Amino acid sequence: MKDSASRFGYFVSKDRQIDFDGNNHEVARQVAAAEPGLNLCISCGTCAATCTAAKFTDFSLRRIILLVKRGETKGLAIEARKCMLCGKCQLACPRGVSTRNLILQINRVLQTELP
Ligand code: SF4
Ligand code: SF4
Repeated sequence: MKDSASRFGYFVSKDRQIDFDGNNHEVARQVAAAEPGLNLCISCGTCAATCTAAKFTDFSLRRIILLVKRGETKGLAIEARKCMLCGKCQLACPRGVSTRNLILQINRVLQTELP
């Protein structure tokens, strides 16, 4: 099966489900209490498209917000620290999210998860 797929230059991705009910939503709850803008985000990606850090790394604020909302925060603490707090995304966000404060709050809550 694998051979025939790779012969044609494609492969079938493994299926993946989000166990929303089983995930830990404590990080999102604490972040939203400190920065309600978390709930305004519509995952449009404008912040990621304008991000200074994303120019040099694979950092994506959109992805981080999405994972926090899903409760998939394992390993996110180091990733979230790549933000340089330049504030460029805040000027571009169509929902007026205070992105700098949002990432600060995400970092604050996630640092308790660091080893
Ligand atoms: S630009 Fe604003 S609304 Fe869009 S993904 Fe980023 S934080 Fe969310
Ligand atoms: S504040 Fe952070 S997420 Fe926003 S553009 Fe700057 S480096 Fe990117």
